Amino acid sequence: MSATIEKTDVLVIGSGFGGAIAAYHLAAGGAKVTVLERGPWLKNDEFEHDYKLGSSYTRIFDFVVGDGMSVLGGNCVGGGSVVYFAAMPRAPEFVFDRHGSIGRRMWPTSVSRETLDPWYDRIEESLSVSRQEWSDASYAGGLWAAACDHAGRTANPLAAAIDNSRCVNCNFMMAGCRFEAKQSLTVNYLPAAIAHGAEIRPLHEVQHLTRTPDGDYRVHYNIVHDEDYRLQNGSGVIEAKIVVMAAGAGATPVILQRSEAHLGTMPRAVGRYFSGNGERLNTAVLNEDKVAEILGLTRGGGDLPYGANAIGKGPTVASWDKLDGSLPEYSRYSLEQLYFPPGLGTILAQVPDATGPTWFGKEKKEILRNWKSWLTIFCMTEDDNEGVFGPPPATGNSHRISQQMLGRGNLSYRPTENTWHGWNQADADVKEILEKDGLAKVMPWTNDLVGAYTVHPLASCRMGDDPDTSALDDTNELRGHSGIFVTDGSAVPGALTVNPAMTIAALAERAVPHIVAAAQDKGIAVAYGAPAPAGYKSGRKGVLPLLKRKQLAGV
Ligand SMILES: Cc1cc2nc3c(=O)[nH]c(=O)nc-3n(C[C@H](O)[C@H](O)[C@H](O)COP(=O)(O)OP(=O)(O)OC[C@H]3O[C@@H](n4cnc5c(N)ncnc54)[C@H](O)[C@@H]3O)c2cc1C
Repeated sequence: MSATIEKTDVLVIGSGFGGAIAAYHLAAGGAKVTVLERGPWLKNDEFEHDYKLGSSYTRIFDFVVGDGMSVLGGNCVGGGSVVYFAAMPRAPEFVFDRHGSIGRRMWPTSVSRETLDPWYDRIEESLSVSRQEWSDASYAGGLWAAACDHAGRTANPLAAAIDNSRCVNCNFMMAGCRFEAKQSLTVNYLPAAIAHGAEIRPLHEVQHLTRTPDGDYRVHYNIVHDEDYRLQNGSGVIEAKIVVMAAGAGATPVILQRSEAHLGTMPRAVGRYFSGNGERLNTAVLNEDKVAEILGLTRGGGDLPYGANAIGKGPTVASWDKLDGSLPEYSRYSLEQLYFPPGLGTILAQVPDATGPTWFGKEKKEILRNWKSWLTIFCMTEDDNEGVFGPPPATGNSHRISQQMLGRGNLSYRPTENTWHGWNQADADVKEILEKDGLAKVMPWTNDLVGAYTVHPLASCRMGDDPDTSALDDTNELRGHSGIFVTDGSAVPGALTVNPAMTIAALAERAVPHIVAAAQDKGIAVAYGAPAPAGYKSGRKGVLPLLKRKQLAGV
């Protein structure tokens, strides 16, 4: 049988941040790289600016409802980077010293803000991340900044991976950027990987891994129908010496759980310690007269400034007053102005001061009448890593309910008192800022319908020093399964209090030399040292001394 099985050096599962970065470096270093991606591969002109079923809006998203936690992620070549808002802050220093639910430092000793900074530099260079100017802020961002200032707080423009010279302010970045202004991986790492010979196969959903007699891996996949993802167009197997798992924190642990029967016992932390990045949404209905009177701002005509339906531009301004390392854990968070998609947001927004669920009552109709004046504030707090995955579904990461986008998964999440403490503080803060002098009425998220909600799944297969509470060692290798590396958000140990893509990407860059060394040990002719995808090398300067200190073979 093995004579007919297809072979590659490095098999990468998933083409988001963790997958694309590893694929590029390994291909550029000379390895034969194959990337299997469960979602479709859309061209720029297929990114549609509407919310219709069957448009890119439903094709490239994956929304999985769990028990107490729902997760929204990307489902396409480029993964979450195609649908993300490109806010790319670095995690604050205190985050790396967090203790979380285990009562001692969660991160490996070798990772701190200082040691990660050179890898952040590489990402900054590769994705053209820059601190946005006030002139780049949306009206909604400016309004949030003015409200913070009025309440005696500070707010600042975010760092973003956006090429402002290409941005046409179409206000519709979420379902894919047509203009290549948003720095998705489809405009940098992935084309660079392809240029070095990597092969990317869309609509290939990995199910599980088995082992060959000589210690390599067989990766088993189904081919997914391009319109109805519940259907299969076939299946196959590829053999690889190294496997890089980067299917995202909602999918990587599920593949590993399903593989346990074939590979042997998985580390205890696989599928545990999931974090939703402590996320929480607040919807505020602005009183336009007060905004004009107190803040001196007028939105002008039309819906674009911040109406719930019209604005698809991502966050531009955040308040970081509570990102203060001297505060106790679970009381540190950022408050970011955000666009949130219509539909779900509308259903979930509660009526101010309601005593029970009032999703469809008279009061709900009243707040919907003010839809054009909704401002959403996104809180990123410190949760308690309380998510646990149950037994895996038959295929994929969830039981697919509809032909695209919707699934029911096996993740359960019971927020602890610590998590609620952070959420309640953040909610109270948003209320204090936006309700001052009657500027707005604030409605916090309700967990009643889909539980908590995250677009930033993390930590379900995390790195650390303690084998009991971490699935990966500090090189991102899966404990007890040499040659399997995890480089996506599941490797991040816990909530970051800011948007996570920058940290996921920096950790993936940091993992690459270790993956290269493991590949060399397995006889693959591969070298480390490729520049940023566009050829820049300045970000590398900071990284080389670290590598020398580590004395990695051959890098
Ligand atoms: C609407 C939205 C806005 C966001 N905005 C921001 C932002 O502004 N800033 C920020 O930092 N973060 C943002 N995020 C989050 C960010 O996109 C994620 O944190 C990031 O993409 C996670 O990277 P990853 O490598 O872990 O996984 P992903 O990028 O999710 O990549 C995983 C890939 O694996 C594929 N896959 C899954 N299962 C399988 C399988 N079995 N076989 C093969 N392939 C599989 C998926 O289709 C996906 O392409 C946003 C997310 C959303 C949904």
